[in-house]
Amino acid sequence: MAHIVQGFQYRPVRNTAGDTIRPIGLVLHVAQGNGSQFNWFNDPRSQVSSNLWAGKAGQREQYVPSDVRAWAQLAGNGTYNSIETEGFDTEALTPEQIESVAVAYADGVHAFGWALAVTDTPGQSGLITHGAGNLAWGNHPGCPGAIRAGQRQQIVVRAAQIVGGSASPTQPKVVALQHAVHVAADGVWGPATDAALAAVRANQHTRAEQAAVGATVDGAWGPRSQAAYVATVRTIQSILEVGVDGVWGPVTDRAFVAARNSYFTG
Ligand SMILES: [Zn+2]
Repeated sequence: MAHIVQGFQYRPVRNTAGDTIRPIGLVLHVAQGNGSQFNWFNDPRSQVSSNLWAGKAGQREQYVPSDVRAWAQLAGNGTYNSIETEGFDTEALTPEQIESVAVAYADGVHAFGWALAVTDTPGQSGLITHGAGNLAWGNHPGCPGAIRAGQRQQIVVRAAQIVGGSASPTQPKVVALQHAVHVAADGVWGPATDAALAAVRANQHTRAEQAAVGATVDGAWGPRSQAAYVATVRTIQSILEVGVDGVWGPVTDRAFVAARNSYFTG
């Protein structure tokens, strides 16, 4: 139904077949150039487009609705939205661009239930790089480059703030953790949040843990529960800014305890 991100100027382009998608996340690109991409994406000779574009000074354009397939990353077009960012891979995203991408990401959280997480695994919900898709996504290992790829966590934290609405700006991590363990995301680490996180940490394959990781709550811990658990641990690791390997080891546990000491309200 032509979903347009609020705050982005809708400038529809020709380069789309108009087929409907339900995106699971957002692919971050670098334009390797300055200025609006509208003319290039509206030119049938280019055969490319993106859903969104973020300018360095805060300009925001949408070329293809969020629920329609753009032509930015081949096999990744059917599963992810795409955002081009003005400038070059040698330059960091400006604060205005970080805000624009966060606004777009928060919209996807609301509209499509995207995980508030960075991911490098195609098929997983989150903020991902073009390069992560390898050959299937057109073989652009340098897009958007290490500098901008490294700014994704900051974008997700900001998106969590936007999603949290009234949540204190100092607690975006709590909002993100609450999304990760499927409890109400009010930005306050209270008893319900604590219990859900404790169930994942203990990993005793309980019904509470199944609920926390978003698996079917049936008391039978099968491959799907296990996969949901690993995905949840990865999301939590990303939020805690530790190595993302899906295994709750000592490093993850120390970061978790530190976060709990900071935020748990008892
Ligand atoms: Zn790209």
